[in-house]
Amino acid sequence: MHHCQEQVRRAIHDYKMLEADQRVLVAVSGGKDSLALWHILSQLGYEVDGLYLGLGIADYSQASAERARKFATRESLKLHEIDLPRDVGFGVVTGAKIAKRAPCSACGLSKRHLFNQAAVQLGYPTLATGHNLDDEAAVLFGNTMRWDEEYLARQFPVLEASNGFVRKIKPLVRLGEREMAAYCVVHEIDYILDECPMAAGNKHLTYKDLLNVLEDRSPGSKAAFLFNFLDRAHQRFADIAVVERSELIPCTVCGSATTAEVCAFCRLQQRACAGTATPVKLSGSIK
Ligand code: SF4
Repeated sequence: MHHCQEQVRRAIHDYKMLEADQRVLVAVSGGKDSLALWHILSQLGYEVDGLYLGLGIADYSQASAERARKFATRESLKLHEIDLPRDVGFGVVTGAKIAKRAPCSACGLSKRHLFNQAAVQLGYPTLATGHNLDDEAAVLFGNTMRWDEEYLARQFPVLEASNGFVRKIKPLVRLGEREMAAYCVVHEIDYILDECPMAAGNKHLTYKDLLNVLEDRSPGSKAAFLFNFLDRAHQRFADIAVVERSELIPCTVCGSATTAEVCAFCRLQQRACAGTATPVKLSGSIK
């Protein structure tokens, strides 16, 4: 327990993630990482509320929402909720099929857009996500395999606020998956154990498996790969992110910063909802 709290405290300090009195919104999925993160930040004394996004993936979404609500009730913490089918007009499975996109692509786009929009509309300057060391190392592996400079430029534990984007932080970057699972077991946090049914065949999981093989043979490889990139190589790509953000214009439908006339999320909504995209007024639908 002490180790996990200390690693989060150190990540917050080293990357200057948060001030002591800042309100934080945690993106909660009902899984071990986001619930453990919410618990640790609350234990460290931050004013931290949760936001659960219902993806419309039948039983899986129902079970995840139940875990998030149960934890919030147990800890007397505030949980906001957005439901994609109810509030936006499509779930990731049906929406992705109609829009001819992979479900994970529609899901990632919806999460990025709606978590940011909710944080802006509800007045949270900072959004925290439960990406852990294993996640970040796997993402870095994928980005490096493709030498995707734009993604490498954005891969950092803190993304500063700009152009309508709130500050985004990843306080679990120093902790691995097993540590988060152990933290939840010790604190009797009931989290969803099942993998999302859409995850089968996901490249991200393949990268994680490959890195686990390396880690078994050479312990510490994952941390060395990620932190040496952050310390020694990230800065070489950082200017690309600055240029990207300076070229943004407001979306003509929802007002979010984008490079096109209509942002990618509104275009997805238009395709998934038979041509209509309406700006989502989240503060009215959020519980
Ligand atoms: S596996 Fe894909 S659809 Fe499921 S939560 Fe992850 S990104 Fe979303």
